[in-house]
Amino acid sequence: MHEHRDEPSALTNAVRAGLDSDTQYGSVVPPLYPSTNYRFASIDERPGFDYSRSANPTRTMLSRTLAQLEHGAGAVVTGSGLGAITATVEALLGPRGRIVAPLDCYGGTWRLLDHLASKERLVVDFVDLSDPDQARRALEKPAEIVFIETPSNPLMHITDIAAVSELAHQAGAIVVADNTFCSPLLQNPLDLGADVVVHSTTKFINGHSDVVGGAVIASSAEHVELIGHWANALGLTAGAWDSWLTLRGLRTIDARIRVHQANTAAVVDLLVKHPAVRAVHYPGLTEHPQHELAARQQSGFGSLLSFELTGGIDAVRRFIDGLRCIDLAESLGGTESLLAHPATMTHAGMTPQARAAAGLSDDLLRLSVGIEPVDDLLADLTAALDRAARAA
Ligand SMILES: *Cc1c(COP(=O)(O)O)cnc(C)c1O
Repeated sequence: MHEHRDEPSALTNAVRAGLDSDTQYGSVVPPLYPSTNYRFASIDERPGFDYSRSANPTRTMLSRTLAQLEHGAGAVVTGSGLGAITATVEALLGPRGRIVAPLDCYGGTWRLLDHLASKERLVVDFVDLSDPDQARRALEKPAEIVFIETPSNPLMHITDIAAVSELAHQAGAIVVADNTFCSPLLQNPLDLGADVVVHSTTKFINGHSDVVGGAVIASSAEHVELIGHWANALGLTAGAWDSWLTLRGLRTIDARIRVHQANTAAVVDLLVKHPAVRAVHYPGLTEHPQHELAARQQSGFGSLLSFELTGGIDAVRRFIDGLRCIDLAESLGGTESLLAHPATMTHAGMTPQARAAAGLSDDLLRLSVGIEPVDDLLADLTAALDRAARAA
């Protein structure tokens, strides 16, 4: 029996965001407002929108939908995920404030915080927040922002959002969680104690690998206002066309995530059983050291995983050469399956020693499982694993 609801769910609102809002022609799909500026009726009245960097009706439609999906008071939509993080840091951090961030955070986040620290804009300590002891030690000193990213890339370490948020609040910090890997469908950090969520909407939210974008969602209206003020002041807000495309991509997120996860379960099953694979890193596996934590704080295990081949870099080459429906490319969260080789691609900026210390071997591969028919994916991967297992 279906539950009776007075209001449609946030997911239905995402599918239908802005539908039937056109009062002029009654278009079902919402119109796009590319205009940079809006008419003032007189010098005595400010219109609802004046200039599109500050606010734009299409972008507002997207921000309302994202705020609802992340259970926040509001959202600020930016031109990239890093724009979302920049706006958040500039809005919330005082002069030379201290940030605690994950050792293995997204490379662009690491670079941003490291470069701002080198200009003495802030002080940053990179620690392994998935390790409760390290988190506790780092937060014995006061901090202004604690930045969480879970699951981590590419080894899928899980950070306990509720536990770290509690420690962070005791240290006087605001908790910012990068929820890009899970999307709002699989994890809602604001419900677990985080104060602010950031997304690279480039990934699952738009989901079609054709828009670079970002968003910040905060639990308090004051933070939304402040971050929105800084996003405008710094010139980080997103354009109308990108907002419109992202809103279109977002309509299918529930359906996409369901197929992403079903395909991933089948892929993981294949990988763990194949002799060419030494290790599989996926929080859905009961052997994953933080499987129970992931099960508790996420409503699904997602569609990102990494695995290590036996046979070193030559096995990696044989695995890649001949793939038919999986592209070798960076990024993730699109409809298409993407394979990345962290040592030469996403994490090539690290020294070999730093990579080894982080546990990133040369035969590690990261897979973002797409929504292709699963039999085609399994056939492609089986052939690749058989090639990898073949003696050189
Ligand atoms: C891609 C990504 C970012 C950066 O987002 P852009 O849209 O590329 O600026 C930040 N965090 C995570 C986890 C990402 O995957």
